[in-house]
Amino acid sequence: MEFHVATLFPEMFDSPLKASLLKKAQEKGILRIIVHNLRDYGLGRHKVADDYSYGGGGGMVMRIEPIAEAIEAVQTQEGRGRVILMSPQGRLFHQDMAKELVREERLILICGHYEGVDERVTSFADEEISIGDYVLTGGELPALVVIDAVARLIPGVVGCSGSVEEDSFYHPFLDYPHYTRPYEFRGLKVPEILLSGNHEAIRRWRRKEALRRTYQRRPELIRVSALSREDRALLDEGIGGVRDMGLNGLGIEAG
Ligand code: SAM
Repeated sequence: MEFHVATLFPEMFDSPLKASLLKKAQEKGILRIIVHNLRDYGLGRHKVADDYSYGGGGGMVMRIEPIAEAIEAVQTQEGRGRVILMSPQGRLFHQDMAKELVREERLILICGHYEGVDERVTSFADEEISIGDYVLTGGELPALVVIDAVARLIPGVVGCSGSVEEDSFYHPFLDYPHYTRPYEFRGLKVPEILLSGNHEAIRRWRRKEALRRTYQRRPELIRVSALSREDRALLDEGIGGVRDMGLNGLGIEAG
């Protein structure tokens, strides 16, 4: 899979893309991430890429020409790709969207900065994506978030592929708790069942914990109608009589 990022601050991508799994995936050739400096497409001798806001006030606005030309250059040289404008006003990014985007061969991510981009840039984008209801200085961190979340779904990027499917939101429940050595730290012990060697009992315990903590922390993620018979029983066991407590009253959709 290929990611193209258009930014005025390419140096912001240096270390995140040169560490850990993203680095390894690029080395293995599973992933290509190309960062394009929008300044290269800037206007005139000074390579201008931003300008004052029509109507006055506010800060600088990124001009449309460098962005449009960067998108067209990628599409001419590499082929068509889905163009995404990073924007706090866009569709809220979540795991299902990452699963949808990983099916694309090529993504072109546009990073705004300053007051944002000239509104007409939206005509060159297939969609706008927000990573949350807060405003950041630029689209660089949001683009990295999208790249990381999507890239780890590409087979081979995360070493043990099973672990991606057990991650939070994949099921779509939260992940179960994880432990490693030491067995005991200042009186805090690892649950005995994890040392039992009984794989079926461990699987059931993990599933129960995943359901329990989802119920406690993010009940809106649970659709009871979509739970298997075993999940219902485990949830019942985990939280002590879910049916008796009244699912609807607890904010869980009974379906
Ligand atoms: N004036 C804009 C507004 O209120 O909608 C905010 C501009 S923000 C300071 C500059 C750029 O950062 C945006 O163009 C966008 O690319 C990026 N950005 C900021 N917050 C973001 C978020 N939550 N998700 C995605 N991109 C964001």
